[in-house]
Amino acid sequence: MNKPRRMDKRDLRDLISAERIEERIRDLGKNITNDYAGCPELVVICVLNGAFMFTADLVRHIDLPCRIEFLRASSYGNRQTSSGKVTITHDIDIGKRHVLLVEDIVDTGLTISGIIAELRNLDPLSLRVCTLLDKPSQRRVMVSPDYTGFTIPAYFVVGYGLDIAGKFRELPYIGVYRP
Ligand code: 5GP
Repeated sequence: MNKPRRMDKRDLRDLISAERIEERIRDLGKNITNDYAGCPELVVICVLNGAFMFTADLVRHIDLPCRIEFLRASSYGNRQTSSGKVTITHDIDIGKRHVLLVEDIVDTGLTISGIIAELRNLDPLSLRVCTLLDKPSQRRVMVSPDYTGFTIPAYFVVGYGLDIAGKFRELPYIGVYRP
């Protein structure tokens, strides 16, 4: 009997090239730099794991003093649909600071709205969301990111930090997973 084939790049259809991502991040960086002009310190919070690559590239295009922090929010495991339950792990002091939350993708909106609710309790001066990808057609709670890289249809995407079962995060582009 044939063994099931392991997931690989043949299961992906290209959606957003590395060049388009780079170009778009440069623009986002400019917009953020302009919007926060004069801000003494912007706290950039990377939502792990998916936003690690996006955050690393984005902060290189934000021309402001930044403090970069990390927060873990899990709602998916290895499944392709949101569980609706968000667990947040962090130890960040954001009282009276301007905070920019950096996400890989906003889908149902459950994860980001859970994080926002939690961070608001910590009394930030302002709190905005920058997401690389947005799937507004999937929304279950009202949330609209302040900065969006790309708006996409309800595809399940991987690459550029996004994974499925731990795979494909390292890819420099975004592809649609289609086994
Ligand atoms: P939400 O709570 O908005 O439904 O989902 C947010 C989280 O689900 C994202 O941070 C991401 O980890 C995961 N997610 C949502 N859509 C996708 C997708 O198309 N691909 C991958 N790899 N993860 C996704």
